[in-house]
Amino acid sequence: MGKVGLGLAVGCAVVTCAIAAALVSHRVRRRWRWGQAVTLVRELEEACDTPVGRLRQVVDAMAVEMHAGLASDGGSKLKMLLTFIDNLPDGTEEGTYYALDLGGTNFRVLRVQLGGKGSMMSHKVESQPIPQELMTGTSEELFNFIASILKRFVQSENDGFQQLPDDRKDLGFTFSFPVKQLSISSGVLIKWTKGFSIEDAVGKDIAQCLNEAMSKIGLNMRVAALVNDTVGTLALGHYNDEDTVAAVIIGTGTNACYLERTDAIIKCQGLLTNSGAMVVNMEWGNFWSSHLPRTSYDIALDDESPNRNEQGFEKMISGMYLGDIVRRVLYRMAEESDIFLDPAKNLSVPFILRTPLMANMLEDDSPDLTQVGRVLEEHLKISRVPLKVRRLVARVCDIVTRRAARLAAAGIVGMLKKTGRDGSGGVESGRTRGKPRRTVVAVEGGLYIGYTMFKQHEVLGGLDISIPNQMEPLNTKLYEKYKNLKKRKFFAEDEWNRKRDTDLRSYQSAMEDLIEEMKNANERLRAELYSFQEQYANCEKSLLEESQKSKELSDEVGRLQNLLLKKNDISDRSVMSSPCTIAGVMSTEIPKSLPRQKTPDLCDETSPIQNKGAATRTYDNHKVETKVPDCCRRNMVSSSDASEDCCNCVFQTLMKLLVGMDFSVNRQTESLCLLVVHKMSGYSFSLTWIPLEGELMYRVSSLGTLERVALDWMKEDVIFSTAMCRVFFERVSRVTGHC
Ligand code: ADP
Ligand code: MG
Repeated sequence: MGKVGLGLAVGCAVVTCAIAAALVSHRVRRRWRWGQAVTLVRELEEACDTPVGRLRQVVDAMAVEMHAGLASDGGSKLKMLLTFIDNLPDGTEEGTYYALDLGGTNFRVLRVQLGGKGSMMSHKVESQPIPQELMTGTSEELFNFIASILKRFVQSENDGFQQLPDDRKDLGFTFSFPVKQLSISSGVLIKWTKGFSIEDAVGKDIAQCLNEAMSKIGLNMRVAALVNDTVGTLALGHYNDEDTVAAVIIGTGTNACYLERTDAIIKCQGLLTNSGAMVVNMEWGNFWSSHLPRTSYDIALDDESPNRNEQGFEKMISGMYLGDIVRRVLYRMAEESDIFLDPAKNLSVPFILRTPLMANMLEDDSPDLTQVGRVLEEHLKISRVPLKVRRLVARVCDIVTRRAARLAAAGIVGMLKKTGRDGSGGVESGRTRGKPRRTVVAVEGGLYIGYTMFKQHEVLGGLDISIPNQMEPLNTKLYEKYKNLKKRKFFAEDEWNRKRDTDLRSYQSAMEDLIEEMKNANERLRAELYSFQEQYANCEKSLLEESQKSKELSDEVGRLQNLLLKKNDISDRSVMSSPCTIAGVMSTEIPKSLPRQKTPDLCDETSPIQNKGAATRTYDNHKVETKVPDCCRRNMVSSSDASEDCCNCVFQTLMKLLVGMDFSVNRQTESLCLLVVHKMSGYSFSLTWIPLEGELMYRVSSLGTLERVALDWMKEDVIFSTAMCRVFFERVSRVTGHC
């Protein structure tokens, strides 16, 4: 693998490791964050816990508050409003009745024909949601709307109902907001709840408002009874079963009413009724006790509501709020963990998760919780939610629903306790004339009717509390056991996840160290690569120059050959004054069979420096005259090792100084042969004199450390003219100069 290849490979390895580490770290973070989500659910579960002991405290607090509310107006958060209803229908009623029900979400108009003996001959109901804008408009707009719907309903043709002979019809008006009753057919609004806020209506007589709106549009009808929806439910319950003593609404809001002895209503001393009892509207949505399991989500919900510090019980129980509590929990989970892959922006929108949708998710019994996934995707725009997250979401719905249902059950038991019907007085207290006394509580409302899981939890909660005293320890024990088992199962996985998180974290830190090391190695290799690239560029440049010069030389050769042709009559041109004075050629071609010339015996010659005349030698009948300095001649004759004697020869010393290389004469050859050594690199070659041609033959002995930088011609035999000597040594010096 080349250097560049290696550099790339290392780079790739580092990138891969970085990705792997990022994945690992992402995984660790994900695991950590999943753990965080589980912790939030665990905390929620603990904060919402309603063991029997706590429910008992709520029961007691409810009974105490009821007493306080009956004692004086404003004595308790429970208003305990008088309804002026002391007689409830018992099934003997006959005739056609019109009724109107204004709840928190829906508005209903109905007409029933009663035939006596508890029989209902026919009935017609029209229901429609209350337009949002009317909930916060003016009282006139609201009651005009109600009157117009009612008129249309009454005038509907072909209804098959027998009209009363009297033109003016009586209307029962179920109004599900706190009203201070003035009489059975009048009452002033105390405050709005359940998201309604029509300021000018507060303090007004609601029945009168409706009467005015009806007469304005020519509808001949008047409010004969203004009742709360709980009272309506109690009336219906009593109509069906005379043992019905209380009614509870669990719909958009929550409320309860019950039959109370008039002598227990202390705040209305001397109140007399035929039956000795009166229906009391508790307005229990406003109940509060420090024993209620309140969470940070409840506090935030309350803070952001238009009726802060009010309806505390309702905000933990009713359909208007349950979905939003779940939404708040999910929103926090989405913010503090990344359990949802999508941004989950919709979770920040108040009331976007309505209670029926939450019920939908909890009641999903499909193995892969398809319904949960669908609700999250369609209503909250959170898609691709993994199964384990869907399970966690369903778990949150369950926790919130369970708490609501068990608190509602505790409220009912509290109400029964106040009336002495909770069984705490022993078996005898529950008997009338030897027969066990029956107590029936009528329960109504969209949440209770439509949400099966709520009903189940509530029934369980009610049973927990109503179980006779001797069973209580066993029941408490069973409940604790059940709770612990459930907790253990749910959080066993969490423990395992924590352990995995720790392992993954240490793995991640090891990976990070490794990546750091690899990054450093990569840097080093990259620097090396750059330096090699630089050298390569220099070599390329030199090569270019060389080929330029080669071309120039070829031109020169051509020119000289032409000259030779012109002088072809001159055959003997071998007389030389010195090898360096003869013009020659330099060729890159290697003559395979060069005619070997006899090496002139230079030792016989006289050094020109010593003025002993020119040395004359004969090579193959050619007379060669050379002027060799004495010192050289002496060297050539006496020395056995040229390099040793080199310093004795002025000529050689000068040569060394000029070209930076050692020169010596090779005596083992016949021809005149110089050995040249570049000591620093170990590069050595011979230069053999070819007298006839007046040329020199270059032959490399060793490239030494120049192996890598040597030019191609340096590795081959080269013949060149003596005139090219200077060029030859210049080129050699250029290469040796690199080392
Ligand atoms: P209102 O309180 O206006 O008289 P209802 O008694 O019909 O109306 O209650 C309607 C409320 O009950 C809805 O706002 C919703 O919160 C809740 N609800 C209705 N159906 C269901 C259901 N299937 N599951 C859970 N909650 C439901
Ligand atoms: Mg209602």
